[in-house]
Amino acid sequence: MHQAQTLTQVAGDQQSPLHSALHQLSEAIEFLGYGQGMHDVLAAPRRELTVSVPLARDDGSVEVFTGYRVQHNLARGPGKGGIRFSPNTDPDEVRALAMWMTWKSALLNIPFGGAKGALRIDPSTLSVAELERVVRRFTVELGDFIGPDIDVPAPDIGTDERTMGWIMDTYARGHGRTVLGVVTGKPLALGGSLGRASATSRGVVLLAVEAMKHQGIDPAGATVAVQGFGKVGAGAAALFVEAGVRVVAVSDVAGAVFNPEGLDIPGLLAHTATTGSVNGFPDADALPLNALLELDVDVVVPAAVENVITEANAPAIRARLVVEGANGPTTPDADRILDERGILVVPDILANAGGVVVSYFEWVQANQSFWWTAREVDDRLTARLLTAWEDVRDASIRSSRTLRQSAIALSVQRVAEAQRSRGLMDDGPLSRGRES
Ligand code: NAD
Repeated sequence: MHQAQTLTQVAGDQQSPLHSALHQLSEAIEFLGYGQGMHDVLAAPRRELTVSVPLARDDGSVEVFTGYRVQHNLARGPGKGGIRFSPNTDPDEVRALAMWMTWKSALLNIPFGGAKGALRIDPSTLSVAELERVVRRFTVELGDFIGPDIDVPAPDIGTDERTMGWIMDTYARGHGRTVLGVVTGKPLALGGSLGRASATSRGVVLLAVEAMKHQGIDPAGATVAVQGFGKVGAGAAALFVEAGVRVVAVSDVAGAVFNPEGLDIPGLLAHTATTGSVNGFPDADALPLNALLELDVDVVVPAAVENVITEANAPAIRARLVVEGANGPTTPDADRILDERGILVVPDILANAGGVVVSYFEWVQANQSFWWTAREVDDRLTARLLTAWEDVRDASIRSSRTLRQSAIALSVQRVAEAQRSRGLMDDGPLSRGRES
């Protein structure tokens, strides 16, 4: 079939996350035997908003920042996805991240579509007062593009529970009532869920351990390198230690540290809280940033940004397992190389889905004003993640395709079925599509 090749060419810049996302979609459409119409419905975002966000700086000057919110697909429910604050973001990155959120929600059987937002800003250059002003103004500009039944943001790179609290408060003031369900990842005092802050990292470690067992690696004494020491990476490092896995290297945007005996993660967290970086941690050696992914370890966990495992470094990766804490860390070319080399990749839409699962739990609790115990959250999170892991692993074995190809095909099939059931399109019989 020539269609997948043609469609992939549409994606433009080979290094853009959107290129990767569209390539993955085309592969799934071809595998499932769907037509061009279904491809086109799923390739294009349903709705996009671009806003200009003015900020009065503390010194009286005014700067204007660009913000985006993309709702990729709403067939299975309201939009769901984080808001990223980063000076490097652009509309195509947000489109790709929104598409991945659609697949992630569908894979975990959560009644949400996919969305993502971003503000092109470096939050580390702002005072707390400036940050609060820009978050509130961005929220006002988003207006009714977000809402508990429309599109529900959450934290991502450069944002956190404090950001979510400000968004909730601004939205509530605009609507004259408290609306807890408008964002997730909120502080506990504002209707957040127990277990949300650690949920993404918990899922990464749970699935890393399952995948290790699947690969015949004993987690007790296995070694791991974690790229990114933020909400996902630092949380995962701490939970790996609890699971008996030795964390020998971690990095952040400023540097990397290495200790073959295993890093003291509580010590490193305290060091980072004081200095702002893992750099200079006394009980470890410094490592060149890009050496971390190529270390001789059992598992690498990219938990920072997109496109860090590429055609250039995939041949040098020595781990037997890559567990994607970040969204989109591996390009399609790198995926192919890792597969050929027998390195198992647990894909982002599965590996880091713990966050969106507990976001869903938070939204359910907020809408019902009825709160669950930490144990209830944790048990339900574990059950959902293990079901998704088994679905994807079994589909991959059945079809001799990668975990990513299987995960995306399962998700695309679920979204296409919803799309079709709503009667929104006529694209030939879906029943012709193969079981993924
Ligand atoms: P964060 O802002 O809390 O942390 C990001 C970390 O990555 C920081 O330590 C930063 O210094 C580091 N970093 C940035 N560029 C780097 C580079 N080139 N090399 C090494 N480190 C680098 O963000 P986060 O919420 O932890 O998100 C990390 C990734 O996980 C993103 O891809 C995000 O989309 C994804 N993710 C986050 C969540 C969540 O719940 N927060 C859920 C699912 C997926």
